[in-house]
Amino acid sequence: MLTTIPYIILRVDLLVNIGRRGYIACIFFSINEGSFFLPLFAKIALGVVLGLRLDDPKEKLSLLSRGAEYDVLSPQGSFKKPTYPGICRVFARDGKCLSVLKTLFTNYCENHCAYCVNRAQNDMPRVTFGPEEFAKLAYDLYRKGAIDGIFLSSGVLKDPDHTMELMIRAVKILRNNYGFKGYLHLKVLPGASEDLMREAVTLADRVSLNIEFTEETSFKLFTPEKRIDGLLADTIKLSRIVREARERGFKGKVGQSTQIIVGATGESDLSVLKTSLWLYRELEVSRVYYSAYVKVNADAPSPLGPFFPSLRERRLYQADFLIRLYGFALEEILPQGKSFLDRDIDPKLSWALRNLHLFPLEVTKASYEELLRVPGIGPKSAKRIVEERGKVPLSLEVLKGFGVVVERARSFITIKGRYFGDRAFPSIKWERLEAGIQLSLL
Ligand code: SF4
Repeated sequence: MLTTIPYIILRVDLLVNIGRRGYIACIFFSINEGSFFLPLFAKIALGVVLGLRLDDPKEKLSLLSRGAEYDVLSPQGSFKKPTYPGICRVFARDGKCLSVLKTLFTNYCENHCAYCVNRAQNDMPRVTFGPEEFAKLAYDLYRKGAIDGIFLSSGVLKDPDHTMELMIRAVKILRNNYGFKGYLHLKVLPGASEDLMREAVTLADRVSLNIEFTEETSFKLFTPEKRIDGLLADTIKLSRIVREARERGFKGKVGQSTQIIVGATGESDLSVLKTSLWLYRELEVSRVYYSAYVKVNADAPSPLGPFFPSLRERRLYQADFLIRLYGFALEEILPQGKSFLDRDIDPKLSWALRNLHLFPLEVTKASYEELLRVPGIGPKSAKRIVEERGKVPLSLEVLKGFGVVVERARSFITIKGRYFGDRAFPSIKWERLEAGIQLSLL
C-alpha cells in the first residue's frame, strides 16, 4: 500500500500539477488512518483539491494579501480594488491614485508578535511564493495595467536572511529579467544582514523597517523576539545605507519609512511624536506611518490609552503634518504637562485656541508663515493668498476658491478689518469647526 500511494499521487500530478503542497496533503490524508475514515481515493482527491487550491498563485495571493492588511503604505489608508486579490488603491503625495499590489511573500513566521495574525502559534493555512512565481504573477498584473506598483512585506521563514534572500531574488527577477519599472516598496526584516539591506536599497524605490513601539515595556508585552535596541540599531543601519545610496547619486529618491503601532499600550502621543521627530531629523526617514492597534488575537492585550486607537492614529498624522509641513514645534502641539493630543479637536485648532491673542489675523497683510497657523488654511491656500492678494480683492468666496476651508478659518481672520466669525467667539462650539473638512493629509 505504501508504494501504491506515491505512485497514484505521481500519476495524478502528471495530469494536473498539484505541487509540493498537494503531495504533502495527499500523503498526510492517506497515511492518517486514525483521523480520516475515508476510502483511499477520496483522501487522495482531498489532497489534490487542497494542493491545487494552495498552489494556485491567485489563491496564495488572496491568503498572503490578507496577511499584509495591517502594513501601512499611505497615511490615508488603502482602498481595496475588488477585481483581484491584493490590489489596493492609494493616493500618492501629488494626489494621483495608484493601484498597488500589497502582499506578503510568505505568511509563515517564526515569531510570536501578539498584534499579528501571522504569528507562529496561529493555526492557519500557510503559504509561500516562489521567487519566480511571485515575479511572474506581479509582472503579469503590471503588464496588463492592473497595477502601478508593488508593496512586498513578509513573515519570517526560517530566519530573516533566508526570507530576505527569497524576496530579493523575486524582486531581481522582476526588475532585471522582466524589466519591471513600476514603484516598489520593500520591507526589510529586522535582523537581516547589511549586505541584504544594501541589495534591497538598490532594487526598491522605498524600503521600510517597522520599529513597532517606542518603549521597551511595550515590546515585553507584545513581542518576545523583538527589542527596541535591536530595531533602532537596524533602522540606523538602514538609514546609513539609504544615505550612502543617495550620496552616490543612485536613485536620488530612494526613501525609507517605518511604522509605529498606536494604542496597544500606554505609550503617550508625546513619546510617539518624539520618536518620529528623531527619525525625521537624525535619520532623515521620509515617512513615519501610524497604525491603530487592532486586537486580532483573542489572547492579546486589549487597547490602552485615553481614546480609540483609530482616532489617535488620525490625530498623530495631523500633528506629524503640522511639524513637518507647517513649521510647528513639538512643544507648541503638546505643551508642558500634556502627553496626549486632544480627542475632540485637531491639534491645529487646539493650538489656535490656546493662542487666541494672535487672532483674528488680517489676511491681506499676514505672512505666509502666519497664514499657515490659521485653522482651515494649508500650505497651498496660504501660497495662493500671498501670490494673489495684490491682484484680486479678497473675500470669503475668493478665499474658498484658493482652497481655504472657510467654515474653519472665518473665526480666526479678518479681511480689510472685517470679521466674519461668530460674535460669540471664542465660546462657540468647536465641534462645529471640527466637523468641517479635516486637515489635508495629502
Ligand atoms: S515578525 Fe512580522 S509577521 Fe512575524 S509575527 Fe511578528 S509582525 Fe507578524
